[in-house]
Amino acid sequence: MAVNLLDFDLEGLAAFCESLGEKKFRATQLFRWVHQKGANQFDDMSDLARSLRDKLKGNAEITALPVITQHISTDGTIKWLFDVGGGDAVETVFIPESDRGTLCISSQAGCAVGCRFCSTGHQGFSRNLKTWEILAQLWFAEHFLRKHLGVQERVISNVVMMGMGEPLQNYAALVPALRAMLDDHGYGLSRRRVTVSTSGVVPMMDRLKDDCPVALAVSLHAPTDILRDNLVPLNKKYPLVELLSACKRYLERAPRDFITFEYCMLDGVNDSPEQARALLALVREADIPCKFNLIPFNPFPASGLLRSKNNMVQEFARILLDGGLVTTIRKTRGDDIDAACGQLAGDVKDRTNVSGRISKQRTIMLQQISEQKSIN
Ligand code: SAH
Ligand code: SF4
Repeated sequence: MAVNLLDFDLEGLAAFCESLGEKKFRATQLFRWVHQKGANQFDDMSDLARSLRDKLKGNAEITALPVITQHISTDGTIKWLFDVGGGDAVETVFIPESDRGTLCISSQAGCAVGCRFCSTGHQGFSRNLKTWEILAQLWFAEHFLRKHLGVQERVISNVVMMGMGEPLQNYAALVPALRAMLDDHGYGLSRRRVTVSTSGVVPMMDRLKDDCPVALAVSLHAPTDILRDNLVPLNKKYPLVELLSACKRYLERAPRDFITFEYCMLDGVNDSPEQARALLALVREADIPCKFNLIPFNPFPASGLLRSKNNMVQEFARILLDGGLVTTIRKTRGDDIDAACGQLAGDVKDRTNVSGRISKQRTIMLQQISEQKSIN
């Protein structure tokens, strides 16, 4: 069976080349063709010997994920739904800003953590994505955007593992994908611009710091174990004190000198001024350099939860800021196409439902992307 070359970091590709009886350094050329130039035909790889190209044709392929839908928001955010087979789909979101282009990538079909406020969590767990399925999201988005914007240079400058799934519960597939993102012969992204977001898988946070330290975001959502046990069930396994010490250990090797804490603001659940003060005390006590990112909850009916009122979010932020913590309130992007955090719902079986909703909204065709020159 042909091997998908998107499944490898550079080291893995070198081992694959050796297994074909080729010199290891050929892997660098091949890796550049695949990731930097977006090639998917071996015949296009003009500086590779014909004999190698023939060998590759017989043993390998470069295959992306089929796109089920693509939607473009009025704010330039693009959401793709990719088919990963077996009735599952995952979503990838491109968020253009004036100074960067961020791609939000999925790591699993569904998620086993089951956070109460997350629609992916409500879906349950289907399966881990393979390395190639994680990388295919970046490969496709980067080369699609370059082509349709008519540019040669890199469009995606930042990656956040904040799509569907818990990346640290798919560690073995995640790490080679991260390495390909960081590799100068791959996407050449800075460690500070690749962020893994986790609900707090403590042992894997320790491994990541040694294997591939990138920026870390930790989904906190509550100042106490009682509340966090309820919102993020994984807290029962790795309670706050353990999670915070893992954050501290991570900082010894992290590319940034702070941890980003994400905090989804839920009306009447975790948004009171007392809770803000408790949160402040918690991170001070643990002595963790950190920033807070408050995410107004993106509601979905099955959650039974509501978004915090604006004034509560502002007040919460003010308390953290007054306490000396850098705090931002996340703008929601792609609202009109359901591309915001926790709204990613990738069940193909549900597709009729999804398309029904989306057809009411503005669906812009592929060609029109080229008009969005301001996207970068
Ligand atoms: N599993 C990882 C990464 C994916 S979720 C994690 O939990 O960190 C990415 C971010 O979106 C997390 O901070 C998560 O808490 C947040 N999120 C999930 N559902 C949300 C919702 N409905 N509204 C706002 N944020 C949500
Ligand atoms: Fe999984 Fe993250 Fe959603 Fe929790 S918030 S269910 S960990 S994807």
